[in-house]
Amino acid sequence: MSARSFPIGVSGQTHLADIKTLRTRMDGAVIAPEDQEYDVGRRIWNAMIDRRPAVIAQALSSADVVAAIRYARDHDLAVSVRGGGHNVAGHAVGDNSVMIDLSEMRTVRVDPVRSRAWVEGGARWRDVDAATQAHGLATPGGLISDTGVAGLTLSGGIGWLRGRYGLCIDNLVAADVVLADGRLVHASAAENEDLLWALKGGGGNFGVVTGFEFALHPVGPEVMFCAPVYPIEVAESAVSMWRDFLSDKNTEVSAIAEFSTVPQSPDFPEESWGKRVVTLAAVYAGNAADGEELLQPLRDLGNLVSDFSGRMNYCDVQQLFDALMPAGQYRCYWKSHYLSGLSDAAIADIVDGNRNPPSPNTLSSIWNFGGATAAVPAEATAFGDRSMPYMFSIDSVWSAPEDDAVNISWTRDFWQHMQIHSDEGRVYLNFVGLGEEGNDLVQHVFGDNYARLVRIKKKYDPGNIFRFNQNIPPATGP
Ligand SMILES: Cc1cc2nc3c(=O)[nH]c(=O)nc-3n(C[C@H](O)[C@H](O)[C@H](O)COP(=O)(O)OP(=O)(O)OC[C@H]3O[C@@H](n4cnc5c(N)ncnc54)[C@H](O)[C@@H]3O)c2cc1C
Repeated sequence: MSARSFPIGVSGQTHLADIKTLRTRMDGAVIAPEDQEYDVGRRIWNAMIDRRPAVIAQALSSADVVAAIRYARDHDLAVSVRGGGHNVAGHAVGDNSVMIDLSEMRTVRVDPVRSRAWVEGGARWRDVDAATQAHGLATPGGLISDTGVAGLTLSGGIGWLRGRYGLCIDNLVAADVVLADGRLVHASAAENEDLLWALKGGGGNFGVVTGFEFALHPVGPEVMFCAPVYPIEVAESAVSMWRDFLSDKNTEVSAIAEFSTVPQSPDFPEESWGKRVVTLAAVYAGNAADGEELLQPLRDLGNLVSDFSGRMNYCDVQQLFDALMPAGQYRCYWKSHYLSGLSDAAIADIVDGNRNPPSPNTLSSIWNFGGATAAVPAEATAFGDRSMPYMFSIDSVWSAPEDDAVNISWTRDFWQHMQIHSDEGRVYLNFVGLGEEGNDLVQHVFGDNYARLVRIKKKYDPGNIFRFNQNIPPATGP
């Protein structure tokens, strides 16, 4: 066993003996560095992340989470928490931490009468979509069905229903949380209201969420999905038309203009393989026939490479992009800006930047905002200001470790260049590269909500044992 697998200040022998005790206190598996399952257990979605926790505690219940947190406290170790493991910065796994892995906790229960879903802390969006759509209901999730509900929600959660029903956090009505002192508490409008407010955008700073309660809405089962694909040569005019078209439809239509490279697939004409394109993807979450008619102009610009539009089941829409994003296969570095607008100059810069990325797998998207998302006041949730009309994200994706430097520096250069169009330097905290900007950026993003978050952090996690996240250090002093 390597020396670095032992927690600081604890002898190897004590640690091993205590791991045996932890095994007796948890129903789920407890994996130590010398165990065969260790390398699989510490692996997460981004293949670039290679960190070594002191121990991996695979929880099956809130009681297991309590036991793991008590173990961390007894050994003066920080805690890292894995929900879906999709965080690109790799926050789910921390060196020398107690990594609490919730990926076996995926139960979803639906109460169709109250329009509520209760979702365990390790569920994926596909679990939620399947359970809720069985009743013709849905709550806003992300664009990939394998992403964890927890991490995506705790930093905001941006998906296909954001125009009509807001961010994921806008539908979060209650949560069960295991705190740093090992207590299991409920957070709702009636109890621990400050904790619920902080969970709505403040990330994994405040405890381990073992259950979420979400509000549900009637959706589908059939919705209209629009996805005409245009060549990069006409991208400037296509994206400016997309912008103008959406200007009075941000409540009904949630859209992304996504830049990508055409794969060698029979779904595309052979002459387009390997070429860069932009897809004007959009979902109309109301009546599918109305949506088909409404979204038609996005498909009528000519020069189409292909068109994947059609009426389809909401669950299928939620899984359409999954194949592009396989877990553990690619190395990734993603960054974002909220944009103050989408001027012609901003579009020209985005298109130029997207012509020739170092990796053909790299994606990049413009996301519209407005509607129900923008209607929530900045102080109503920890997430903060909602006035940004667009988000721009650069999702660099490649395979070989020797290509890390070129892809990361290309992404950073493009991101720096786009600062001139940004909404005062604010970014989406789920897309922050490897988090290099640290607390300065976190503080800037939360703006006027930061001071309240620091006070709440001090109340619930004064020792900052939950620090593998977009960290909010607890306030010092009384
Ligand atoms: C392929 C892909 C697609 C994506 N698409 C979208 C999208 O459409 N919309 C969007 O908004 N974002 C999207 N994201 C970003 C995504 O929201 C973040 O990566 C998010 O952190 C993933 O959540 P997770 O639970 O899978 O992550 P993890 O890596 O498991 O965790 C992320 C963070 O949350 C904390 N955490 C996890 N579970 C818990 C818990 N139960 N209690 C407390 N803290 C916890 C962790 O400590 C960590 O800090 C995407 C990411 C990927 C890789």
